[in-house]
Amino acid sequence: MQSAPDNITTDLLTLFPGTGISVAVLRLDRFDPVVSGNKWFKLNYYIEEAHRLQKKRIVTFGGAWSNHIVATAAVAKREGFVSTGIIRGERPAVLSATLEQAISFGMDLQFISREEYREKQIPGLTGDEYLIPEGGYGEKGALGASTILECTNYDFTHCCCAVGTGTMIAGLIHACNNSQEVIGISVLKNNLSLEPNVHSLLTNKDNRWKILTQYHFGGYAKHTPALLRFMNDFYQTTGIPTDFVYTAKLFYAISELISNRYFPGGSRVLVVHSGGLQGNRSIEKGKLMF
Ligand SMILES: *Cc1c(COP(=O)(O)O)cnc(C)c1O
Repeated sequence: MQSAPDNITTDLLTLFPGTGISVAVLRLDRFDPVVSGNKWFKLNYYIEEAHRLQKKRIVTFGGAWSNHIVATAAVAKREGFVSTGIIRGERPAVLSATLEQAISFGMDLQFISREEYREKQIPGLTGDEYLIPEGGYGEKGALGASTILECTNYDFTHCCCAVGTGTMIAGLIHACNNSQEVIGISVLKNNLSLEPNVHSLLTNKDNRWKILTQYHFGGYAKHTPALLRFMNDFYQTTGIPTDFVYTAKLFYAISELISNRYFPGGSRVLVVHSGGLQGNRSIEKGKLMF
C-alpha cells in the first residue's frame, strides 16, 4: 500500500477574527491534481484487496464528471491493473474532460442506461473483475478514510467535511474521540438513505456526529451564482481553491455557521478540504478566477 502523501498541510485561516473560533483546513487537495482529496484514502484498502485476490481488472461506477472514476483510473494504472468505468447515461458526442483523462490512464468506458445503472445490470462482466462500489462507498472505503486524520496534528474540537455517499464521514467519526464532534455537510438534496448508510459503516456508534442538509444549493452538482461568488471571494481571501460540487458548499456552510454562532466560543474547527478540483472543468470558462 502507498504511504500517506507528505505534502498535505493544515492551514490556519484568519478569516473569522473576533469570533473566538479557530478554523484550520486540512489540505487533502494538495497532494495530487488527479487523485485528489479523499478518493485516494477511500481506494487504498480496495486496491490492497484486489492485489491480494490477484485480480487483473478493476471495475467501478460513476457519472461523467466523477472524481471517483478518474481517481480509480489513475490508481489502477499506477498499481498495474486494467480498469473499466461503468458510466451512467448515453455516450455523449463529446466526452467530458474527466472521462478523457480516465481514458488517458487506460480506463475503458462502458456507457449504460440510467435504468441499467440503477438496477446494476452490467453487461460483459465475467465475474473475475474486482468491483469497487460507486464513490468507494463501503467498509473498506471508510477504513481508508479513517486514516485521513493521521495527516494532521491539529487539536480540534469539531471536524467538518462534505458528504456524498457518507463513506468519508464514517471514517472520520471512527477516528475521532468522544470529546470531538464530526459535522457533515450533505451535498445531495433529500438523500433519505444517507444517515442509515453512514450508520451501517460505523462500529463505534457513540461518537458525536451530525449531518446538515440545508447546504446543497439545489442538489448534487448544482450551483448558483452566489456559490460561484463565494468560491471567488474565498479564494481571494484565503488562496484556497474549492470545487463547486463538494468543498465550496462545505466552506460556505462553515462561514454561515460561524456567523450564526453555531460553534461555542473557543472551538477549534478542522475543515477537511477533500479535493475534487478537477470537477471545476465543467464550469463555463471565466466564471472562476482560479
Ligand atoms: C467524493 C467526494 C466527497 C464525498 O465523499 P463521500 O465519502 O462519498 O461522502 C467529498 N469531497 C470530494 C472532493 C469528493 O470528491
